[in-house]
Amino acid sequence: MYDKNNVFYKILQSEIPSKKIYEDGVALAFYDINPVCKVHALVITKALYVDFHDFVSKASPEEVGAFFGAVAKVAKLLEVDESGYRIVSNIGKDSRQEVPHCHVHILGGEQLCQSSK
Ligand code: 5GP
Repeated sequence: MYDKNNVFYKILQSEIPSKKIYEDGVALAFYDINPVCKVHALVITKALYVDFHDFVSKASPEEVGAFFGAVAKVAKLLEVDESGYRIVSNIGKDSRQEVPHCHVHILGGEQLCQSSK
């Protein structure tokens, strides 16, 4: 069950600020407030899904495809498309997902560690 009391919902509503990178009909991208590497962006769904699993289970294939298209556009805007980057989506308790609104991390700008653990 989606709970609107989360920080990404507030960013979507412009109730709290973010450093926006990109926006279209399905996605909003902004910089992570606490970057773990040189380039650390977040791409969130505009529609209200708890996590990536919830999104893919309920959204249309077109919406899922459009979201991944937005992720690729953001990587290009951030100029990591040629050097390479990692996308990560934390889902639920064991992944330590902090914000219960569907999002993907884009990590890059430098050589990343081998493991995500
Ligand atoms: P999760 O663990 O849910 O995959 O990651 C949530 C991410 O959101 C974390 O990397 C955290 O730094 C980021 N974050 C939390 N609060 C804010 C905020 O208010 N603004 C921005 N830009 N990022 C945030």
